[in-house]
Amino acid sequence: MRIAAVTTVLLLTGCSDVSGIENRKSFGPITTMIDLFTSCSLLKTDVGPVLFDACWRPEELRARLTENGVKPEDVGTVLFTHGHQDHVAGLAILPNARIAALAAEQEVLTKYVKGDATIDDVLTDGQVLRFGSTEVRVYSVPGHTAGSAAFLVEGALVLGDNALVTAKGALGPVPKDRSADPDLNVRSMVSLADRLKAEEREVKWLVPAHSGGIEAGSALQTFADANR
Ligand SMILES: [Zn+2]
Repeated sequence: MRIAAVTTVLLLTGCSDVSGIENRKSFGPITTMIDLFTSCSLLKTDVGPVLFDACWRPEELRARLTENGVKPEDVGTVLFTHGHQDHVAGLAILPNARIAALAAEQEVLTKYVKGDATIDDVLTDGQVLRFGSTEVRVYSVPGHTAGSAAFLVEGALVLGDNALVTAKGALGPVPKDRSADPDLNVRSMVSLADRLKAEEREVKWLVPAHSGGIEAGSALQTFADANR
């Protein structure tokens, strides 16, 4: 199973000319935690730490949390961009974390999470989550998986595997063979760009899981304009 996961991640990065992930890099309120070719993000709030995805190898996640001063048992919620193995396996060291995801992701979570993968907090498109004084907005962006989500928190757009940042600093799609419905993935990203613009949301940072992030929210609009 572990070998299969390595292969998956290598394929994802090997197909694209992506920017490198920087461990402990901050994008506004969130901090990147790396595990080889994938990453998840830490958000510290007044009511405790929240994660965007649970990273991959459990002991690597433990090390990343420790270097950020976080005890695994203090993580109260993981907001899932999607349920692929390299985004969920770290749940094994998070005994108190609630699983928060869009309902459509239950099947993928059931496939890849060991033990009980039942979604504790079923998210909905457009929902505003509050963790103390921190607001997180939920956006449904199906395509990479049926229940893929993006999250906007204080200007940081957490993208999971819905897009990648290229080595040239542009936002691009993930390789087609990695997504359940690659065309829908791109259409969802175009819709997300249009929606964030219509809602007049400030997007300062774009933070994918399998590449570095960038401080260039306008790259999302550029991506959308190039893919209509
Ligand atoms: Zn994925």
